Amino acid sequence: MSAIKNTRLTYYTNIKKPSSWPKYKKGMCDTCMAGCCMLIIEVTHDDLIRLKLTDAWEIENCLKDLIKRLKKLKIIKRYNSKNGKFIFGKKKSSDCIFLDNNRRCMEYKNRPEVCRNHPVIVSPKKGFCPYIPK
Ligand code: SF4
Repeated sequence: MSAIKNTRLTYYTNIKKPSSWPKYKKGMCDTCMAGCCMLIIEVTHDDLIRLKLTDAWEIENCLKDLIKRLKKLKIIKRYNSKNGKFIFGKKKSSDCIFLDNNRRCMEYKNRPEVCRNHPVIVSPKKGFCPYIPK
């Protein structure tokens, strides 16, 4: 895992500094090692339902319990009541909790909208990405 991690990091600009990111070009994702899965992942109620982590009834009637349960499971870090979005939990490496050791999303088919739309529609810097293809 550490070899993957060291190799991976040489392929990115400062992930936490969007102003340093190069412009995104079609095809970049083909060789990327999931750098976007290290960003802050903000998901909606619908995303959680698609991931089968809850259902519409629980969201409507037991939101506090849901937040408590998902926090305990470390699936979410927090809930933002202002925009109604949940912040996904992270591993110590900053990777999303759904990223496996081969840097593949374990929930790819059901992944959140934010993941589907990065970096063209949703991004800390729209149209830019921290990945630098070699
Ligand atoms: S849900 Fe999947 S695609 Fe989205 S950040 Fe997590 S690992 Fe990456």
